[in-house]
Amino acid sequence: MQKAALSWNRRGVRVGFVPTMGYLHAGHLSLVREARKRAGKNGKVVVSIYVNPTQFAPTEDLAKYPRDLKRDLKLCRDAGVDVVFAPSDVEMYPGKFESGFSTYVVEEKLSRTMEGAARPTHFRGVTTVVAKLFNIVLPDVAVFGQKDFQQAAIIKHMVADLNFPVKIIVAPTLREADGLAMSSRNKFLNAEQRAQAVILFHALRAASLAVKKKPVSAARLKADLKEFITAAPLARLDYVEFFDPEMLAQVAQVKRGAQMALAVFIGKTRLIDNARL
Ligand code: AMP
Repeated sequence: MQKAALSWNRRGVRVGFVPTMGYLHAGHLSLVREARKRAGKNGKVVVSIYVNPTQFAPTEDLAKYPRDLKRDLKLCRDAGVDVVFAPSDVEMYPGKFESGFSTYVVEEKLSRTMEGAARPTHFRGVTTVVAKLFNIVLPDVAVFGQKDFQQAAIIKHMVADLNFPVKIIVAPTLREADGLAMSSRNKFLNAEQRAQAVILFHALRAASLAVKKKPVSAARLKADLKEFITAAPLARLDYVEFFDPEMLAQVAQVKRGAQMALAVFIGKTRLIDNARL
């Protein structure tokens, strides 16, 4: 992959890159279209498919994470992707299990809250694997989804802090007809859970409405949303936060334009979503 990328770079071929964990859905494919737009028809679009073990805690769903490479390859081919990079763990982390791999990339500010608080080693795994992928794929442009808002903010920060020569694009969240954000993890939901999973989207809409006319205290809004979410009996709120969209600093008063993010367990499946209010 890196050899191909070096040769493209030398020939001035633009490279657009979409990193994923596979089990692709229409949300991923919208990022592919954005990458093609940015790379141009003479450029190359690369999709990586890699379920990165270092971003999962031992208690999490690494082994159960859905995989279907054959289907993903077909979707990529149909979407006009030039190269799918699907490395193995041994290729990505040689010697890891013999303690040979020992260098990690750690963002120390934006990664402390929300997903970083709920999943303490998660973003260290994300920044490390994305840094590795950038060094392997050597993209001019990389496209991430707003669905993982904090992740995109951290990647932008990493790229600025460490001078990666890549432009980061953040593309909008694709949703199902009822508003549920598309996610590979939606596959884990049974019919009853699937019906209730729309509560995340409804909570975002309710919050947006609540702050439309005047600011509301974050504490008040959190309490109201917690109650709102219990209306779905299979849902359990993990966190809901309100913050400024750049540095992710929490706000005490929630006004229009604030960012809201939430994580909710639906049964055993943990879903996240976010929106600008
Ligand atoms: P994942 O395979 O879940 O790691 O996601 C790979 C990329 O796709 C990330 O940049 C995600 O933010 C993005 N993504 C995931 N779900 C969606 C969605 N519903 N709409 C747009 N982008 C998404």
